[in-house]
Amino acid sequence: MYPRSFSYHRASSLKDAATLLSQLGEGAKLLAGGQSLIPLMKLRFANPVHLVDLNFISGTSYIREQDGAFRFGPLTRHAEIEKSASVARVPILHDCAAGIADVQVRNRGTIGGSLAEADPSGDWATVLLTLSCEVRCAVQSTDRTLKLTEFLKDAFTTALAPDELVSEVIVKVPPENSGGAYIAFKRTAPVYPTASAAVQLTVEGDRCKDIAIALGCVGLLPIRAREGEAALRGQQITPKLIESAAEAARTAADPQSDMRGSADYKRQLVGALVKRATEAALQRARGQQVEVSHIYA
Ligand SMILES: Cc1cc2nc3c(=O)[nH]c(=O)nc-3n(C[C@H](O)[C@H](O)[C@H](O)COP(=O)(O)OP(=O)(O)OC[C@H]3O[C@@H](n4cnc5c(N)ncnc54)[C@H](O)[C@@H]3O)c2cc1C
Repeated sequence: MYPRSFSYHRASSLKDAATLLSQLGEGAKLLAGGQSLIPLMKLRFANPVHLVDLNFISGTSYIREQDGAFRFGPLTRHAEIEKSASVARVPILHDCAAGIADVQVRNRGTIGGSLAEADPSGDWATVLLTLSCEVRCAVQSTDRTLKLTEFLKDAFTTALAPDELVSEVIVKVPPENSGGAYIAFKRTAPVYPTASAAVQLTVEGDRCKDIAIALGCVGLLPIRAREGEAALRGQQITPKLIESAAEAARTAADPQSDMRGSADYKRQLVGALVKRATEAALQRARGQQVEVSHIYA
């Protein structure tokens, strides 16, 4: 199906884009990679009157390392993150970028667009929840920086005002002796996961000093499995404790039955994914090179 007709505006800067949003009002939408918006427009679930294209603004696609953090430009494509040698030092970020859909989607889709879309099935929010992540949001004259947890409000809902845009995503580089892994279960590559688990941990000697576990696609927002984290924090990680964390994650999950599977199936699945992701994260924290890939049905 063709989208409904719309006026096209090419923004020359992020400030210009914010000004256009403010002038054009509610019927205006930003266009980044178009990998969520264009399909929705073709299905006529989204019917913007004005499209403000961000793609011709120079300097919006970058990965910079500064003051112990990665700074991602709003238009940084998943594929750029996947191929970045500096990002590869934080393997959970690479796991995420490399596992999103297929090459075409990764070449166009952006980290800014993904967070702004706040799709409960999206990968980035789940992974970034296990790291220290802030989202810079800009309006015409000022900007503000929000923690990811403040930015994400609900399914498909963020703290962005109608004339505000994501201008940067800031992710702290984890401390020494840290490792993480992100594993999703997918029916095929170019679809969203049925369930996913992100685990980021830091070890001190043979103990787990700190850990964050986030569950994807099993709630309206990604869920921190805090009781699962508590089961492992400060402990020497054993298979039995990993099983306890997985069980706690099953309890924390709040899935809905849909075409991807029943709620109960997803609950079981997410526990198994937490187990695998914790094992891989632990190996990585101990300095082992571990390849992680999503599981395809
Ligand atoms: C077949 C297919 C499979 C996919 N599978 C997955 C998957 O497995 N996992 C996954 O995570 N994603 C998946 N995606 C989505 C993909 O990752 C998109 O790239 C992402 O959701 C949106 O990014 P985008 O740059 O394409 O944004 P767009 O589609 O251009 O925009 C999405 C929304 O965000 C707004 N927006 C865009 N940029 C900004 C900004 N800087 N500030 C404020 N608002 C902004 C737009 O106005 C729009 O409302 C899939 C997409 C397709 C087509």
